[in-house]
Formats: sequence, C-alpha cells, structure tokens
Amino acid sequence: MPAEKATAIVLRTIDFSETSLVVTLYTREFGKVGALAKGAKRLKGPFESALDLLAVCRIVFLRKSSESLDLVTEAKLVRRFRPPGRDLAGLYGGYYVAELLSGLTHDYEASPELFDLADQTLAELATGKAVGRRVARFELSLLRLLGQLPSLERCGECGVAVEPSGRVHFGHLSGGVLCTRCRDGKTHVASISANVLRAMSQLADRDDRRWRRLEIDARTGGQLRGVMNHYMAHVLGKKPRVQAYLKWTT
Ligand SMILES: [Zn+2]
Repeated sequence: MPAEKATAIVLRTIDFSETSLVVTLYTREFGKVGALAKGAKRLKGPFESALDLLAVCRIVFLRKSSESLDLVTEAKLVRRFRPPGRDLAGLYGGYYVAELLSGLTHDYEASPELFDLADQTLAELATGKAVGRRVARFELSLLRLLGQLPSLERCGECGVAVEPSGRVHFGHLSGGVLCTRCRDGKTHVASISANVLRAMSQLADRDDRRWRRLEIDARTGGQLRGVMNHYMAHVLGKKPRVQAYLKWTT
C-alpha cells in the first residue's frame, strides 16, 4: 500500500464515528479521492482539524487497491475557507464550487489546471468581492477544461456563425447558440441578449485578465445567472442544491 502525498481541497466531510470522518477531496496530483480519516475530529494529532469543508491541505494518504476507501493518515492546513462577516454570497459560491467539482469529476482523474482554478476561485471567493463574476468565471472555465463549454459563436447544431446582436437563441440541449433555422422545433431554448452572450465569451476566455475588466450591469448579470443555472443543471444531470442561493453580485 503506497503512501502518497498530495495537495487537496476538502469537498465534503461526513461523520463516520465519534472521532473519524469520511472525506471527499479534490487533489492536484490525483484528482478526486474518497478517503477515511481516522481520528480526524480530534483537535490534537496528525490532522489538527485541517479537514474542514473547502480548506486546502497537504495530505498523506494510503491508496487502497481494492474497492475500499483510501486512508488519510496526515493533513496539514494550508488555508481555511472563511468568507468575511455575514456576507453569505462568498460562502454559497464556495459550496457551489465543491458541488460542481464533486459532481463533474471522476476519481483518480487528475487535472492540475482544474485544481489551480478551484484553488484560486476559493481564495478569491473568501474575500467576498465580485462573487457573481467569480462564480461565472469558475463555471465557464470548468466547462472549458471538461470539454463541455457551450458554443458561443457558432450554431451548436450546424456550425454556422451566429451574429451576436439583439437577442440570440441559446439551446441548452444543443450545447450553445442556435441559428434561426436550427432553432425551429427545439425545446429548452432560451432567448438571451447579445450582452449576456458577450459576457459569457469573455468569462470563458483562456486569458485570466480580460474577464476581470468586464463591465456587467445587474440586469445582464441576472440574466447570465439564469442561463448558467439552466446550463449547469443540464451538464450535472440535476439542479445543484446551492444554486437557488446564488445571486448575481458585482
Ligand atoms: Zn444552425
């Protein structure tokens, strides 16, 4: 049973016994890992209460070869997730990041890029600033890394360029915008403003600077939130539990 070291984000903790936890972790080195942490709830010992929801830790774990859970033997806290004061937006944003990572990644499929995205997103959500765009940036970057980014410039069905002016058809089941011809007869089609589409393009951009300068008014932000809610529910196969609490905040 080899001992492995990893940097991990705690996605979920479930009480297993008076002193132990079952945890779901998203690690930079191995992707998602489910593990038992014996004695993790003791204040002293090899865990130092590090296995806290959305905390970033350095862990040592034993990888089991069979169907049984891996075993975390040590965890050192790098950073806790503690958005300031009574502002719940950042907190819900963090829960949402955990829910999406948990639901859309597979055990032992590592993506350091996705880990870094989540790590950076949580660090920024913890400041409580620009939560709305930070959450949307995470969703669209996550979709890009998973190869599930909706088509924003060309019709998701036939590939013809779609002019981003006025209102644009967005097919949730067609994976993006639709031309007028392909729109006919489709269900789950939203009519979105070109402003929302432009904001989505910039939020999905590989460059990590453009989206930060983006001006998004409350109306566009609210509509963007609506489109993303619907699309993410479709990708996840169910409505994320935290989604109802996500609000557009600039
Ligand atoms: Zn088309």
